[in-house]
Amino acid sequence: MAGDGIGQEVTPAALAIADAALARTGGVRLVREDAPAGAAHYQSTGEAFPETSRRTCEAADAIYLGAMGLPSVRYADGTEIAPQLDLRFMFELYAGVRPTRAIPGVRPALADPRAAEIDFVLVRESTEGLFASRGKGVVEDDAVARETMVITRRVSERVFGYSFGEAERRRAAGKEGRLTLIDKANVFTAFAFFRKVFDEVAARHPDVAADHLYVDAAALAMVSRPWALDVAVTENMFGDILSDLAAGLVGGMGYAPSADIGDERAVFQPAHGSAPDIAGTGKANPVAAILSAAMMLDWLGARHGEVNVVEAGRLIGRAVDAAFADGGLVTCELGGTADTRAVTDAVLANIR
Ligand code: ATP
Repeated sequence: MAGDGIGQEVTPAALAIADAALARTGGVRLVREDAPAGAAHYQSTGEAFPETSRRTCEAADAIYLGAMGLPSVRYADGTEIAPQLDLRFMFELYAGVRPTRAIPGVRPALADPRAAEIDFVLVRESTEGLFASRGKGVVEDDAVARETMVITRRVSERVFGYSFGEAERRRAAGKEGRLTLIDKANVFTAFAFFRKVFDEVAARHPDVAADHLYVDAAALAMVSRPWALDVAVTENMFGDILSDLAAGLVGGMGYAPSADIGDERAVFQPAHGSAPDIAGTGKANPVAAILSAAMMLDWLGARHGEVNVVEAGRLIGRAVDAAFADGGLVTCELGGTADTRAVTDAVLANIR
């Protein structure tokens, strides 16, 4: 699902790199089917997410998404077209996984030399929280507006379970493997409940160190000592905000990959939107899209027991690092001229 704006530009780049990595490691090839959806599709057909595309998604082993939505195309209530949100609800993709890692050679936002050590994963619960109110908000008498946050035990247990697993995987890979819950349990009943469930799940994972941070303190920690974070899990709206902050630490939205993972299905997409301000110029940074494709191969390979596919995902990560290592490749967000083509070619050269 290439979608809108720069989604149409970064998707072919990411998939070309996935194909090249799979060709290098051997054994498996991706079979792809396009599923049209998004704001431009809505504008031309009146449908944002046609039934045929839904069925294509249902039948797929994994879904790759570029970006969707355009500020100029909206539903009557003023909200944007967002089939990527529909997918999260349709397939119960509760774990929004946002890795944040400083790529050597990409200038970080912070001057502190420890910024080069930034390497954490934010898990954003993606099906409820304040977003459960999407499409249900009310305005009364043009005087009061209300939205309601929903936190359920069922989804919280699953997203915490996923997050503890992520911490365990990181520890097995030689990283710290500690899990931090980000909430606002000191003010809201819903978050006190969220924390209670977290502590119950933590008791079932005594091997993983677990702690808590209030969201305001977490925002401060993310800019004052982000190198100290390992894995953090939070509610949907907090995760929406903090993941953009996290992206800013390591170069911007063009460096932020993501995966929306459920029990059976997953969607992989760069964390950025359709960036209409630069769409069509060829300037978009494809790194977030490329690293999202690497996450897809990692997930598919692990799920189907295909070590070559897992290795292809890792190869992409190494090729991105090698492409940027000498500091010569500077993308548009950081004031440089390395465009989609230049970055894609540099990563491809390091894969081949
Ligand atoms: P959404 O609400 O869908 O997350 P948004 O409107 O908040 O999207 P983006 O579309 O991600 O935001 O764009 C935010 C800013 O980041 C824009 O100035 C855009 O040009 C820039 N940006 C986003 N992605 C990239 C990229 N891959 N390369 C360069 N700049 C990007």
